[in-house]
Amino acid sequence: MNGGKVEAVEFGSYAWDAGIRADDVVLSVNNYPLRDWLDYLDKSYAKELLVIYYSTIVKQVVEKRILKAAGQPLGITFCTPVFDGLKVCANNCIFCFLQQTVPDLRPTLYIRDDDYRLSFLDGNYITLSNLNEDDLARITAQKLSPLYISVHSTDERIRRDMLRSSKELRPILFDLRFLSEHGIDLYIQIVVCPHFNDGESLRKTMLDLRNIQGIQKVAIVPVGLTKFREKCTDIKAFNRNNARDLINLVADIDGSKENAFFALADEFFLLADVDIPDANYYGDFELYDNGVGMLRDFIDDFQFELSQTNELKADIAINEVCILTGFAASYILEELFQLFYFKFGSRPKVCAVVNEFWGEMINVAGLLTGADIIKTIKDSALQSKLFLLPDSLLSRDGHLTLDGYTIREIELETGFQVKAIHTSGKALLDEFREERNE
Ligand code: SF4
Repeated sequence: MNGGKVEAVEFGSYAWDAGIRADDVVLSVNNYPLRDWLDYLDKSYAKELLVIYYSTIVKQVVEKRILKAAGQPLGITFCTPVFDGLKVCANNCIFCFLQQTVPDLRPTLYIRDDDYRLSFLDGNYITLSNLNEDDLARITAQKLSPLYISVHSTDERIRRDMLRSSKELRPILFDLRFLSEHGIDLYIQIVVCPHFNDGESLRKTMLDLRNIQGIQKVAIVPVGLTKFREKCTDIKAFNRNNARDLINLVADIDGSKENAFFALADEFFLLADVDIPDANYYGDFELYDNGVGMLRDFIDDFQFELSQTNELKADIAINEVCILTGFAASYILEELFQLFYFKFGSRPKVCAVVNEFWGEMINVAGLLTGADIIKTIKDSALQSKLFLLPDSLLSRDGHLTLDGYTIREIELETGFQVKAIHTSGKALLDEFREERNE
C-alpha cells in the first residue's frame, strides 16, 4: 500500500482528533496521493483537508475532514521521509565505494540512493542522471532548495567515463543552469580522481561552474580508495606531490582566503603537508559534512575550550588515557595535546589505528572497524586504562561499528574501559576537566 506509515501522532493534535494513530498509513491529502513527506507538508498546509488513511485499528480505509488554520501542522511524524521507495542510482562510478567493499557490513553502507528528495532533506549528493522532466518540474514547483549535486566534470566525455551511467546523460551544465534559473540553490561536489578529472579538466570544470549563479559553493574532495579494488578501474591515489599541484591549481583560479567558492577537503592539506586554512576560508562551514572544514572547526573549538579550562578532574590519571583515531587526525591531536601539556604538565596519549580492514589509504576515523580497534588496543604498549574513540565511527544510533561491534563488546574483547565521545574539541576536553559553571 503506497502512502506514509505513521510513526507517532502528537496527543491532542488535529491528526489525533481525527483518529490517526501510529502504524496507520496516510494515503492522500485532498485527493493527492502522497509520495513522500514533502508532498505531505505541501498538501497539508491548506486549512480545509480531506485526509484518507488506512486505520490499523478498524482495519479499513477511513476518510476524515479536518478544519484548521493554514500552515498549522497536523501532528504526524512518519517512519520514513520517502513513501514510494528510494530513487536508486543508475550509475556505476569508477570510484564508487560500493564496488570496493565486502559483504556483511552495516546495511546502510550498501544503499545506492540517488534521490533528489534526500538531497533536499538530508544534504545527500545526487548526480541528476536519474531525473526525468517530471522530477525537474517538481523540484522547481516545490522549490526544493538547496540541492547537493555531484558534478565531477563538466566535460561530458569525462563525466560519462566516470559515471558509467545506464541512462543517457543530459549535459550537466544544462541541468545546473535550469535549476539555477528557477531559484534552486546548489552545492556542488567534485570527487577528483588523478588522471581522470584533475589538471586542465578540473580547471575547465571550475571555470564553467563559476558562471552559474545558483551555485553557492563547490567542494573539491579526493577519491577514497580501499584495498578491495581488484575488479575496479585503476585509479591512482593522491600523494604529497599531486595534492600540492591540486591546491596550487585551485588557488590559481580562486585564491580567496575568505568564504572560498571552491573549497578543498581537509585531506588535501594533510596529504600535501600544508597548513589547514583559517576559519574564514570555510565561511559558514556549509560543506562540513563533506570533510571540508572539519579539522579547522575541531582545532579552533579545542583551542578555545582549552583557554577556558583551568582545572582538571581530580579523579582521572590523564596519562593513563589514550585517544584512538585515524592517521589523518592523529597528527593534529598530537599537536593539540602538546598545548594541553604546556598548560597542565600532563597529557593523554594519542594512538593512530592502522586501517587494516579497508587498507592504509583509508585514514579517517569514521571508517575504522571494531576489529582494527580491538587489535590496536591489544597490541598497545601504551599502558592506558581508558581508551576514547570518536563516535563518528559508530552507526547513527551510536550503537555499532561498521563491522558490527558494540563498545561493550570491544571492552569485553580487550579487557579495557572504552568510551565513544562526540567528535568535538569541547567533548574531548570535557573528559578531562572539572565541569564549568556557565
Ligand atoms: S552515484 Fe556513483 S558513487 Fe554514488 S552510489 Fe551510484 S555508482 Fe556509487
